[in-house]
Amino acid sequence: MTTTRPPLRVERVRNGRGLVANRSFHAGERITPLHGRVVSARTVWGWWERDPRRAANCIRFDADRYLDPSGAWGEFANHGCEPNAAILRERGQLVLRALRAIRADDEVLHDYSTLLGADDVWTMRCRCGAHGCRGTVRNLERLPASIVDRYITLGAVPRFILDTLADRP
Ligand SMILES: [Zn+2]
Repeated sequence: MTTTRPPLRVERVRNGRGLVANRSFHAGERITPLHGRVVSARTVWGWWERDPRRAANCIRFDADRYLDPSGAWGEFANHGCEPNAAILRERGQLVLRALRAIRADDEVLHDYSTLLGADDVWTMRCRCGAHGCRGTVRNLERLPASIVDRYITLGAVPRFILDTLADRP
């Protein structure tokens, strides 16, 4: 019998639980699709009142919808200010893709700011431990231009987030 080992595992990390690579990935490699339920922005706003943890885990899917990843990989996809991965939308689904080489047993991190458009007001205190930790996670428009430019060059920002910027690249 052969079994296919999943690309990731959920494990205790620095801040709660996170996604850890089961094998190495090369820069640009697709790690996994992120499954979940696509819900309206209005639904997520309701969760901020009743179930803020669930709301906080939601990942922007397009201009006015979010992916609720409850029970799937996306629920444990943590932020890092110096990420090794990005979440992008490809062929109608969100996917986690390596931004640089990832070794087996590394935590897989993406920058939440790449999924926060200019119309997203959510912010988060950050203690990710990266040398370049920004201290607060804010939407893409509020990041230093040098960081935005680097993410755009790396292809780490979904089109529907770029479309929210006043000064569209
Ligand atoms: Zn940080």
